[in-house]
Amino acid sequence: RAKEKGRNNYQLFNSQMKSASLEKLTMEQELRRAIAKDELVLYYQPQMDIASQRIVGFEALVRWAHPERGIVSPGHFIPFAEESGLIVPIGEWVLKEACRQNKHWQEQGYSPPPVSVNLSTRQFLQHNLTGKVAEVLELTGLDAAQLELEITESSTMDVEYSIDQLHELKNLGVTISIDDFGTGYSSLSYLKKFPIDKLKIDQSFVRDIMTDPNDAAIVASIIAMTRHMKLKVIAEGVETEEQLQFLYHNRCDEIQGYYFSPPLSVEAAELLMKERM
Ligand code: C2E
Ligand code: MG
Ligand code: MG
Ligand code: MG
Repeated sequence: RAKEKGRNNYQLFNSQMKSASLEKLTMEQELRRAIAKDELVLYYQPQMDIASQRIVGFEALVRWAHPERGIVSPGHFIPFAEESGLIVPIGEWVLKEACRQNKHWQEQGYSPPPVSVNLSTRQFLQHNLTGKVAEVLELTGLDAAQLELEITESSTMDVEYSIDQLHELKNLGVTISIDDFGTGYSSLSYLKKFPIDKLKIDQSFVRDIMTDPNDAAIVASIIAMTRHMKLKVIAEGVETEEQLQFLYHNRCDEIQGYYFSPPLSVEAAELLMKERM
């Protein structure tokens, strides 16, 4: 019996493994097809300067317009893309498309704010990243000052490499921000060595600032620290007026979140620009 049970367990384990890897393979093939068939789209979430109430940025956020499943959010495919390496071609497409759109809006007479693009760790670790970014700016004709690159703390584990990589990117004239700040392994002593412009306080700290005194203290401290370091600071995931008031009183520069606006389709972003700028 024990032998039989063992064999069954083995078979079960084996078939689970098979279906998991099959699922991965299917996902990978579907993603490849999505890239080839132009099924990826960018949404743009406005970032607002609290004091002037002006829109100071658009974060480009990728979505998959799936023919059967509809709009698929990045949480459902970015992890697969990262694991399979497909995040590199996806990220390159995002960068090019975000720059092209921003330039196109300018040519149409809009005054779009700078666009921020998320860089995955794999992209950040590419030695020719600066060359690729320069190429895209050249190709699309976008001014480097209109481009912000977001990297996460976890991309900067190799400190010496990161310092060099960030200096190279900064020399192009782009802006650099640290995304999801506070959630990764971050050493403040390294942070000051990085030529960065802005910290994005992760939404997990912002969510409960009105009810959790620890989160309130963390957010207030990050804002105070950025002021001393002469960095800009933006709070992510701001959903309520009360959170906005808290951030304003603690002298946070900018907000991004559903309170002001969700990520917008190109058409909705154009309507907003017509109304506001
Ligand atoms: P992120 O870069 O931190 O982007 C912010 C996420 O928070 C977005 O989710 C946005 O829709 C969501 N969000 C904005 N305001 C609020 C709010 O008030 N409340 C809540 N609960 N959420 C809010 P989204 O678009 O689903 O993207 C999730 C993550 O996927 C992004 O987090 C980013 O890490 C990744 N991602 C998205 N696009 C790209 C891309 O082009 N390249 C790479 N490498 N990663 C991407
Ligand atoms: Mg981001
Ligand atoms: Mg974030
Ligand atoms: Mg992120």
